[in-house]
Amino acid sequence: MESNNQHLRLQEIAGDLEIVLKREDLIHPDISGNKWRKLKYNLQYAKANSYKTLLTYGGAYSNHLAAVAAAGYQYGFTTHGIVRGDELEGQSLNPTLQYCKQMGMALHFVSRSLYKDKEQALSTVVIKDKNPYIIPQGGTNTLAIKGCREILTTTDKTFDTLAVAVGTGGTMAGLIESTQEHQHIVGFQVVKDIEIRSRIRTFVKNNRWSLVPTHKEIGFAKTPKSLIDFAHSIANHTGVVLDPLYTAPMLWHLIKKWKENTWNFGNRLLVIHTGGHRSIKGINQRLAAQGSLLRWPCSSF
Ligand SMILES: *Cc1c(COP(=O)(O)O)cnc(C)c1O
Repeated sequence: MESNNQHLRLQEIAGDLEIVLKREDLIHPDISGNKWRKLKYNLQYAKANSYKTLLTYGGAYSNHLAAVAAAGYQYGFTTHGIVRGDELEGQSLNPTLQYCKQMGMALHFVSRSLYKDKEQALSTVVIKDKNPYIIPQGGTNTLAIKGCREILTTTDKTFDTLAVAVGTGGTMAGLIESTQEHQHIVGFQVVKDIEIRSRIRTFVKNNRWSLVPTHKEIGFAKTPKSLIDFAHSIANHTGVVLDPLYTAPMLWHLIKKWKENTWNFGNRLLVIHTGGHRSIKGINQRLAAQGSLLRWPCSSF
């Protein structure tokens, strides 16, 4: 299988750190990176079992919601999204939610407290199809992990350390299950989630993995100037556009640890670019609304 690995020259940003970046952001024209991996077998299953409707959950900037909307549009499913935050109802939609709507997704806004209990949230929305195929928040389920086991190729055996950004942990679980004995995987946890470790454990059979939290220094979906500057610097030196929510905090944190000499893992590094460019427009709109002149680098995605 052809590999989408790109060697990054980072001398000016990170001295002697050498990184190979797996460009998962390039694998599908509309459904970004890991979200395509996670949906692939779910869509096959839903088709094979004659489901007509996909239903899922997400926050206002959710790449997963956008991916399900696009998948439904492309593969002929009706789609419903249950969105966290009833204050969004009646407001103008951010670009991620606008995109969902354009792709035909019906959006149902529920309060943050109701959203915490997914079944209760579901019971409050009215949808015609009484038998929708339900995909969990972030798309993480057994079939998603099966898809994420296909990220690594046989030539990736040469790396000793893999790095990935972690939201719900599904992508990392698939990677963990497909690593070789000599490989260790480091997950950069961008959201605070006390259940993440146990959730990953339910899906994997080895312990060649560690979690490093990034959310303590960069809150989820926060875009401090330092992070925006970093994204520009990476784009200028390598041509790679990172996404603001996942891959930028991951690489920022990794390089910081490298420079501080606190990187305790191997140095034959494969870093996964999981995609996520869909959120850039919304982040830039928010920066503009806040009166900031800073902008996240643009991507043609
Ligand atoms: C959703 C997302 C993640 C997190 O994936 P999980 O499987 O939920 O951990 C990582 N990177 C990007 C770009 C994403 O959109």
